[in-house]
Amino acid sequence: MERRFQCTACGKCCYGWLPLSLHDAIENAGRFPLAMIWTPHRQGAKSFQVTARQGTTLEISKGKTLAVQIAPTAYIPHTFSCPALAADNGCSIHSHKPSRCRAMPFSPTREEAEQSALLVPKPGWLCDISESAPVVYRDKKIINGDDFERERGQLMDQAAVLKTYADHLIATAPNVVAGLIQAANKKRGGYVVLKFTAVLTRMAHVDVADFCRLQLPVMTEYAEKTAGEKGLADYHEYYAECAATMEKLLARR
Ligand code: SF4
Ligand code: SF4
Repeated sequence: MERRFQCTACGKCCYGWLPLSLHDAIENAGRFPLAMIWTPHRQGAKSFQVTARQGTTLEISKGKTLAVQIAPTAYIPHTFSCPALAADNGCSIHSHKPSRCRAMPFSPTREEAEQSALLVPKPGWLCDISESAPVVYRDKKIINGDDFERERGQLMDQAAVLKTYADHLIATAPNVVAGLIQAANKKRGGYVVLKFTAVLTRMAHVDVADFCRLQLPVMTEYAEKTAGEKGLADYHEYYAECAATMEKLLARR
């Protein structure tokens, strides 16, 4: 079986959350409002093994374990476009856009053999999957997998850092564990949103003050953009809390 796909640069997928590698998150601290999104995957889910390798696991009862995906994320409301989306729907940072955008529509959070469904455009997306588009996937293999492999490599390279960060929070923050269990019990799945700054203590090469100086104006801007917006109260609260935390942190320096 083979699948065809070509991006027509319509920009329709450049809205809402954008999962990032840690490297891309730090590189874009002056552009994206960052968060850590924790998503539990139940045993038996197709993504369980990959998630466990790239994130961490949590035993919730005897013989019952969750794999937890830990995704540094540009935490942007689904109705908002990416701040790098240009007026002509092109990407204004095309030459250095995040690995996630380069590897689209493939995803490193699924096994290579499980990518087929990702080649079906979502409603409204203008991806070309006609006979004139190139074959990109054949017999459960990606034909030119350089971008996919690059992103998957980044996720594996950062796995040890994320696991240390996540396991510490799991051991010390019962509210995080409770949130994960609650999310795992939701019929359609759920997630937990945590501040990005907590992971910085695990990244010795990152200067926390420099990071905050870049990230604070972004959080402030998004707090302003979402103030009073219907349905965006949680986002607004998150941005405002992060901005306050970073202001305090910078004041101490
Ligand atoms: S960085 Fe560029 S390609 Fe990626 S979501 Fe933003 S506008 Fe789209
Ligand atoms: S929706 Fe499809 S065609 Fe449009 S930018 Fe995204 S991948 Fe490209």
